[in-house]
Amino acid sequence: MISFYPGPSRVYPKVSRYMQDAYKEGVLSINHRSNAFMEISKKAINGIRVKLNVPKSYTVYFLTSATECWEVIAESFVQKESIHIYNGAFGEKWCTYTEKLVPNVGRKPFDREVQLNADQLKFNTGELICITQNETSNGTQVSTDIIKVVKKNNPNHLIAIDATSSMAGIALDFSVADIWFASVQKCFGLPAGLAVMICSPRALERAQSINNRKHYNSMLFLDDMIKRAQTPCTPNVFNIYLLMRVMAEVKEIDSIHKMITGRFKKWETFFDTKSYKLNLLIKNPSVRSHTVLAIESTPLHIEKIKTQAAKKGLLLGDGYGELKSTTFRIANFPALRKNEIDKLMDFLYDFI
Ligand SMILES: *Cc1c(COP(=O)(O)O)cnc(C)c1O
Repeated sequence: MISFYPGPSRVYPKVSRYMQDAYKEGVLSINHRSNAFMEISKKAINGIRVKLNVPKSYTVYFLTSATECWEVIAESFVQKESIHIYNGAFGEKWCTYTEKLVPNVGRKPFDREVQLNADQLKFNTGELICITQNETSNGTQVSTDIIKVVKKNNPNHLIAIDATSSMAGIALDFSVADIWFASVQKCFGLPAGLAVMICSPRALERAQSINNRKHYNSMLFLDDMIKRAQTPCTPNVFNIYLLMRVMAEVKEIDSIHKMITGRFKKWETFFDTKSYKLNLLIKNPSVRSHTVLAIESTPLHIEKIKTQAAKKGLLLGDGYGELKSTTFRIANFPALRKNEIDKLMDFLYDFI
């Protein structure tokens, strides 16, 4: 089965060998305070820094999921009010999780067809602005150029970005925000159970002034431990090892970005000009995600395509939330091979 699910998604084919290596090299049983682990952890972090162009002054942390990152951010980086700008299910979920932990939450939903107007986003209250860079539920994205203006217009706020389904797939300018995170079962092409969070010095200063140390995964504990390339609890050593191997192998992000954008353009042409029964859910090209495509049709047609696809060994992503019956989703993640994409395109020709 070739998985086009936008998470958990197709892992890099070489992960199979890396898994065997991990077993043979004894990685599965090493102590998480040992030098052996610290070496792996340092190499994984360095791989992320080099391949994804992380600014030198930013710190990379390990967590277990993007959902955990939502909670850590709510606990460690904000005291009174967090502002959430979102147009889909994941951004809304982030807001709902934060509401349970932070006294005030500013909900700023926007239409998924609309490009955010950063000049209208100036906030007099709140300490943190949360944006989902790539909304996996509906296939939209917010450009880093727009995020940059949001930051400029709100110099006293921290900017936190959920890049779960875009980090390691498209080039992101990390310097335009303070906190970035992603779990690895999407564009990193790895199994679930690990997340990466990237923080600016300013974010860390904020955490220090708030000084929340109530949780095992409070930012300040994470920061104390990562100085020794460790984590507060026993981490997913296996996945950190796989991450180290994948980051050593992948091309640098600008080259992956080119490949992903090129593949996206092909999909875009396919649905915009060749198909009339299947359409991209998002009509405005300037807000379309390059890593997750949501395809719209009648519930009957969608059901038929998903069933037929499964028979051919092609797993399509279900629509998410309220879009479940009227859309399916296609991951455009780097671990997918060109011939796999060609196969799906050939298959879809019978349904357009
Ligand atoms: C998948 C996803 C999440 C949730 O990731 P978990 O690792 O399951 O916590 C959060 N945000 C976005 C944008 C996602 O795509």
